Amino acid sequence: MYNEYIEEEYSSFSFLLMTINEKYVQILLPTLSPCRKKKFKGGFGYSFPCPFCGATNATLKPLEGSFQWVFACEAGMKRGPASCRCGIPMNLNAFIGNWNPPLQRKYEKEQGEWRRSL
Ligand SMILES: [Zn+2]
Repeated sequence: MYNEYIEEEYSSFSFLLMTINEKYVQILLPTLSPCRKKKFKGGFGYSFPCPFCGATNATLKPLEGSFQWVFACEAGMKRGPASCRCGIPMNLNAFIGNWNPPLQRKYEKEQGEWRRSL
């Protein structure tokens, strides 16, 4: 049976998560310099030097068809998962956790607050 209430709750949570993700991307950007805005398949994202290995080609971009963001370092991925923290792509939560753990605690707390407020 189609449950309108659940559907609505789910879509408003997706929307809020999207808003929170965008807010935290904006908080992160000044720490990822020099940072350039770039168009990707999923929308506008950013390219900057990798904060973990210093390679020039790292990106943070929206995942196509979703409200999630993904960080990936081209050089780190070539070297493989064992090389360093940037050897595998990360979702926004994992990226914040690796790059700025105190900010990740805020990010998780804020998500929890939104969830409870629905
Ligand atoms: Zn890297």
